[in-house]
Amino acid sequence: MSGSDFQVSLRDLKRTQGAHKSFRVEGTYAVVAAAGLAVLPAGRLVVAEGTLEAVGDGVLVTAIAQAEVDAQCSRCLTPFVTPAEVAVQELFVYDDRVDEFDDEDVLPIVGDQIDLADAIRDAILLDQPLIPLCREDCRGLCPRCGADLNTTPDHQHAGVVDDNPLARALADARRRG
Ligand SMILES: [Zn+2]
Ligand SMILES: [Zn+2]
Repeated sequence: MSGSDFQVSLRDLKRTQGAHKSFRVEGTYAVVAAAGLAVLPAGRLVVAEGTLEAVGDGVLVTAIAQAEVDAQCSRCLTPFVTPAEVAVQELFVYDDRVDEFDDEDVLPIVGDQIDLADAIRDAILLDQPLIPLCREDCRGLCPRCGADLNTTPDHQHAGVVDDNPLARALADARRRG
């Protein structure tokens, strides 16, 4: 086992179908993980709480994981922190039953521990929006000079429409709807 902070002991969970116990893990990751514009930095606290249930060939983990994720607004590029609260569900299969599964994705139970590090991290990052926004109505950046239109809502360029054929065409198109 890799010795992550997210290992859960199965010692007092019977293999009898339906046996269950609750658990709580918390800790950090040693390496940064990212998906698109969402980043779970190294050292950021992650907490997960849930239940382990014996289900014949293995143990079903059902949990809620919480962490704060670093994101970047896809419109104005401002970095922001967003709280994530995601469902984690993962099936771990007893070492002596793994052969019965052809699926390479099956996670084996080695010894009497399971490691939820990957499951928790993946669930958090997969839950992040592909197009993060700092706020629902973010106005983004001025396409001409890059000024942040949230902080300078009255921002405009004098004569743009008259000077620039492309801008004029766009303005005409907008007027026509
Ligand atoms: Zn924004
Ligand atoms: Zn501008």
